[in-house]
Amino acid sequence: MDSSEDPLCTSCGKNPSRHHLAIVKNGSRDSQNLCDDCFEAEAPQEYKDELAAIRAASCGYCGAQAALKASTIDTIIGRPADRFACYSCFQEHHRFLLERLHGMEAGLTDAKASDQIQVLQRLSEETEAHMRDWVRQRDN
Ligand SMILES: [Zn+2]
Ligand SMILES: [Zn+2]
Repeated sequence: MDSSEDPLCTSCGKNPSRHHLAIVKNGSRDSQNLCDDCFEAEAPQEYKDELAAIRAASCGYCGAQAALKASTIDTIIGRPADRFACYSCFQEHHRFLLERLHGMEAGLTDAKASDQIQVLQRLSEETEAHMRDWVRQRDN
């Protein structure tokens, strides 16, 4: 049994849950743990569509099976960001971004809006470059 750590399904209370949904409803965040059956019956269609898209996609950084859709900084600067990532790459991406953002927080708040976009664009490019190096090192 490898399911001993899965909490029971919040809907039927019988089966171990395999799907962990974060649903934002009226501005508050609700999380549900559902088993396969209840997921099929209750999950919103758009959530299933997204899951199917993730399963069919590969990581945009290393090419492994994608585990999630990554919302990147590209979203903030208005580029389409349908990017998928595996957990490993997502974690590193997140870590790097936070670290960089933390370092430039003061400068960002003072900057004019047009400058902010430029800074974010540069950050986005830096992050892409960092991920390429990081994946190369990880896989070697
Ligand atoms: Zn269930
Ligand atoms: Zn990856």
